[in-house]
Amino acid sequence: MGLSEFELIEQFFLRPGCVREDVLLGVGDDCALLRIPAGEDMAVTVDTLVETVHFHPGTDPEKLGHKSLAVNLSDLAAMGAVPAWVTLALTLPVSDSAWLAAFMRGFSALANRHRVQLIGGDTTRGPLTISVQAHGFVPPGKALTRHSARAGDRIGVTGTLGDAGLALLQMAGGGVPGRWLRERLETPMPRLASGLALRDLASAAIDISDGLLADLGHICRRSGAGARVELPKLPLSQEVEMHVKKSGDWSLPLTAGDDYELCFTVPPEFCARIEERLDRIEGGFAWIGVIEKDEGMRCFAADGRQIETSQSGYQHFQSA
Ligand code: ADP
Ligand code: MG
Repeated sequence: MGLSEFELIEQFFLRPGCVREDVLLGVGDDCALLRIPAGEDMAVTVDTLVETVHFHPGTDPEKLGHKSLAVNLSDLAAMGAVPAWVTLALTLPVSDSAWLAAFMRGFSALANRHRVQLIGGDTTRGPLTISVQAHGFVPPGKALTRHSARAGDRIGVTGTLGDAGLALLQMAGGGVPGRWLRERLETPMPRLASGLALRDLASAAIDISDGLLADLGHICRRSGAGARVELPKLPLSQEVEMHVKKSGDWSLPLTAGDDYELCFTVPPEFCARIEERLDRIEGGFAWIGVIEKDEGMRCFAADGRQIETSQSGYQHFQSA
């Protein structure tokens, strides 16, 4: 028989994996009580994952636990914030302790790794929906925003692009993606160290959740600028590189979502220092283009030809 709401809370949420000094009161009361460390601003973000919209029914709950936290930590990474606290609102169709135990294993492992404490939440019955709010700290004036890229800034991207999209594409075709691609889709690692390394040097940053062109497009629009992207410079895994070569289609690295890499812009005088810092961090990074005065996104192939791109249409990305 399923546990009651109270029993679920008692069993799964009451004992914190990680205990922080800035949490005066965690799970168990009407509110959590928190103390923002002196000299820090707080960065807050929330993301909701809905079954069938954001993940397939039957998705491994441990991986789902990881991912539902990872997508929020990725937003903090993109601001250059250090994560601290998290709340978890769960809507569950049934009270299934085995499912919840696995979910919390994935969630807590990632939380503990980054010293993030679960400080509260809500548990209700309904269609499977996971809503996570994450809080982090950043020194005043140091947050990385979307609106301050300038013409001449170089554009960088961490990790590789299009892996999660390729995994989804293979699964949609009835295939089973290899381990690397599956991990990229199911257990993305938020680029927190890279986000910190960008502080003081990058002019703007965003995490890539909706695809490179869409998310770089947000930086450009908010900054009143445009971008030139060199396709041969996009960082690709072997798998995605093969796919692009075979199909002549750049849509995966340009428009597939779920990558959770960081896209950022850097004034030329700081580029060498960025290279020094990011080359040492897992995932690495690549320069992929430059911010330009004219609005819009322009992509160029190896031979210098401009490739027609649209941020939505899959077919529009055939380069042949
Ligand atoms: P209330 O009725 O005051 O909202 P609840 O019974 O919903 O209280 O929750 C009791 C305590 O358990 C609260 O501290 C709440 O933050 C915590 N809690 C409930 N659900 C979760 C969850 N999914 N994750 C973490 N904490 C939770
Ligand atoms: Mg409640």
